Amino acid sequence: MVPFNADASTPLEWARQRYEHTDKKCPDCGYVDEEGNWESRTDGRRIVYRHVCPSCGASREHVFTLK
Ligand SMILES: [Zn+2]
Repeated sequence: MVPFNADASTPLEWARQRYEHTDKKCPDCGYVDEEGNWESRTDGRRIVYRHVCPSCGASREHVFTLK
């Protein structure tokens, strides 16, 4: 599911783990996605995490800028 390899010491992995483990509940319908199906992509300068609620279809995005 993750299009890059990274270990826990990288910002990419840190952010992925943070959102997969802490942000599972949809703010719109309250559905808790235990799978934590966050999609991630990066262009080398930013990381975008996107989640689509399997219940209501609402999407959320978090964008990180790499330093
Ligand atoms: Zn929802």
